[in-house]
Amino acid sequence: MKNFPEKIVLATGNVGKLKEINELFAAIPTDIAAQGEFGIESPEETGQTFMENALLKARYAVQQTGLPAIADDSGLSVDALDGRPGVRSARYAGEDATDAQNIDLLLKELDSVAEDLRGAGFYCAVALVFPDDIHAPLIAQGVWRGQILRQREGIGGFGYDPVFYDKAEHKTGAQMSRTEKNAVSHRGGAFSALLQQVEALLEKN
Ligand code: IMP
Repeated sequence: MKNFPEKIVLATGNVGKLKEINELFAAIPTDIAAQGEFGIESPEETGQTFMENALLKARYAVQQTGLPAIADDSGLSVDALDGRPGVRSARYAGEDATDAQNIDLLLKELDSVAEDLRGAGFYCAVALVFPDDIHAPLIAQGVWRGQILRQREGIGGFGYDPVFYDKAEHKTGAQMSRTEKNAVSHRGGAFSALLQQVEALLEKN
């Protein structure tokens, strides 16, 4: 790519994600702006997969701004629930469900599930879409395997973090610092993989 874009829109309303991604992209000479700066709201997440949703959010931001855009979509897939809640993770216990309500429902559904069958994975898909017809979207994904506990442990993080236990780290997501979590998480993995692709694109020219 001849001139890497000076500005990329991040298609999320989440300020925490903007900070993380700016940190991750510090080596790239690009300003990452939140979609809120352009007055854009997120489109409805109608995709059946994390990647479809990441692509539709990024494409929508490209349409609205004419700039390249990055979007991610993530969620929890529980083995004993055949992959649920999946793309419905944020809305598991209802359209406006809180994190606490979603966790309560998850624990209830897994009440009779034995310890060795409580495996789960957080998935994150990320897409960088360009506003021209020449450059195909760059896509990447990350997975973080863990175990669903029977009760909450820790007060950090968000979403299902308090009940998601990483056996290797001996901690739940809610017991990790942001740096610790980024080093092992689905989102950290997906964005690092995307960054490698961006760097490869820059090296080509
Ligand atoms: P989204 O990627 O912002 O659409 O996130 C979807 C939902 O998945 C969140 O609302 C959380 O419930 C869950 N989720 C995604 N990533 C994480 C995480 O790192 N920790 C805990 N929950 C997560």
